[in-house]
Amino acid sequence: MQITIDNKSGFCFGVVNAIRISEEELAKDQMASLGDIVHNSKEVERLSNLGLQVISHEDMSNGLHKKVLIRAHGEPPSTYLTAAQLGIELIDATCPIVLKLQERIRKSYQEMQAVNGQVVIYGKEGHAEVIGLLGQTDGNAILITGPDDIEKIDFSRPVRLYSQTTKDPNKYNTISDLIQERMHQMNGEAIDFKKYKTICGQMSGRAPRLEEFSKEHEVVVFVGGTKSSNAAALYAVCKVNNPKSYFVSDAEGLKDEWFQGINDVGISGATSTPTWLMEEVAEAIKSITKEN
Ligand code: SF4
Repeated sequence: MQITIDNKSGFCFGVVNAIRISEEELAKDQMASLGDIVHNSKEVERLSNLGLQVISHEDMSNGLHKKVLIRAHGEPPSTYLTAAQLGIELIDATCPIVLKLQERIRKSYQEMQAVNGQVVIYGKEGHAEVIGLLGQTDGNAILITGPDDIEKIDFSRPVRLYSQTTKDPNKYNTISDLIQERMHQMNGEAIDFKKYKTICGQMSGRAPRLEEFSKEHEVVVFVGGTKSSNAAALYAVCKVNNPKSYFVSDAEGLKDEWFQGINDVGISGATSTPTWLMEEVAEAIKSITKEN
């Protein structure tokens, strides 16, 4: 049995950075993380064993935790304000790419206020990164989760369009085309529309690479957290390109029948999947196929 772990899968650099920062801090002192540091329960468990406690915003407001980590997704300005008011030390592990996007949206919002324009964000409702991005506009940006939502936009006014960093680039283009078309219908050539490429390269580069990887292997096992939108999107790419693609959270999710009569398995994972977990899955597949 040939088992190959996709060497382009696993943590993105933003998550590696956040985990490194948390491990360094935990070696010195106790710390809590505002939300799961990564959408992967196995990695959360590993960090919890090192002493990282996961808390909610409500827990933070109680002021019981004096050192709090901000994860790679980032936070809205209100979180920084609460921490300052309660004397909480923040360890800011916001991904530098997300930080830059927050800054751009903040600036754009100020510019749009001067010309009665609108900041529009394509993203997933309730996602931590999106909450952080909306916070840069005091919650006034228009959130678009799919084509139907574009009706929230006033097409006669200027628009600056941004995307959450982990969205599908094709879907983002579709949304952008729809908005432009409607603005054209209303304003002709006088439309004031700008779209920014804000999907992270760590994410957008993976889907095309994964298409190839899925086709190269008889069976694909995709390892990801059930809460990760990135995992769901990348697994969908595997399934389209190889119907014998299966999603597992860990080795316990493997089924013997997937590997009967199979000689070649590819293992891939999301930007939130640790390499050690994919290695564990590889070992478990080896054991299953030895027994068969
Ligand atoms: S996917 Fe990109 S933007 Fe998001 S945390 Fe990873 S590196 Fe940062």
